Amino acid sequence: MASILPTPDKPVEARLPAIGSWQSALKAAIRSGAELCRQLELDPRLASSGSEADFPVLVPQEYLRRMRIGDPQDPLLRQVLGTEAELQAAGLKDPVGDLDFAREAGMLQKYAGRVLLVASGACAVHCRYCFRRHFPYAEVPTSRQQWQRWLAQLAADTDINEVILSGGDPLSVVDHRLQWFVDELNRLEHIRRLRVHTRLPVVIPQRVCSELLDWVRAAQATVYFVVHINHPQEIDAGVEAMFQQLHAAGVVLLNQAVLLRGINDDYATLYELCSRLIDGRVLPYYLHQLDRVQGATHFEVADQVAVSLVTQLRANLPGYAVPQLVREIPGQPSKTPVL
Ligand SMILES: *Cc1c(COP(=O)(O)O)cnc(C)c1O
Ligand code: SF4
Repeated sequence: MASILPTPDKPVEARLPAIGSWQSALKAAIRSGAELCRQLELDPRLASSGSEADFPVLVPQEYLRRMRIGDPQDPLLRQVLGTEAELQAAGLKDPVGDLDFAREAGMLQKYAGRVLLVASGACAVHCRYCFRRHFPYAEVPTSRQQWQRWLAQLAADTDINEVILSGGDPLSVVDHRLQWFVDELNRLEHIRRLRVHTRLPVVIPQRVCSELLDWVRAAQATVYFVVHINHPQEIDAGVEAMFQQLHAAGVVLLNQAVLLRGINDDYATLYELCSRLIDGRVLPYYLHQLDRVQGATHFEVADQVAVSLVTQLRANLPGYAVPQLVREIPGQPSKTPVL
């Protein structure tokens, strides 16, 4: 089968500044839909300032570089460009009931044995379908004192054996804070696994820097990274090198994707995504049915279509390459399989 990824008609490196640290990459990110369109040689009227008032556009250059010039249907562009379609009122502000499960500020426990820490309100990219787009991050104090309170709770509750750093994006936290946290966790023998849910190194691969690898290697717990890649075009040489570095540091790599209408809701795209992931030693973990968040319902895919796509994947890929198709139903003891 021919590659489904057309070759960009221009060498894209030519239009980019040289890359530096991940912090400078964050600073240089594009923060307006009109500017995003201009850089891709598209009509700036494709952008919607109404949608950006609700949820600003944020796209690092390193991610932009993987988009095709002049293609308004580009599957990466469609994940990040705010459009008029977001202005419809359907959907909920907090579709997964996060606010009902806070043990305390920024610490959520929905499932047995594991807690999720909202380690940061910041992300390196704003994904238009994000179920946390209305989460009141400003109310989540992420000071060192707050992290200390989380640690006190973890120390007191030996039923918890896995800590999940989430957000926002937990890798927007500086490495000396993460190093300190890992050092503290190392004193808690019942914490056997540390999981990091992140999209940051996908959009800015240089986030996996030597300081990050230091705390990863220092952790006594088994370290899992769950990255978030929805489309094979997101995986370029920089992302593959990033996988290798994490893998070499002993990290178990998993991927979660969201099924998105017009972006990855076809067999060829999902097949290529799963294949590229397992070639890079990343196991496809979850394929999420969209949470019905306000502003994103135009990305929804019918369950029947979703199930048939996964059935086709199962017939053509090794079992370990097939993600579990799930949806989050508030109040359930786990993510719920869609059958
Ligand atoms: C999704 C989620 C988890 C992780 O669930 P797994 O099925 O273990 O991946 C943990 N806590 C919360 C609050 C979650 O939303
Ligand atoms: S990186 Fe994750 S948390 Fe941040 S906007 Fe994208 S999907 Fe949402």
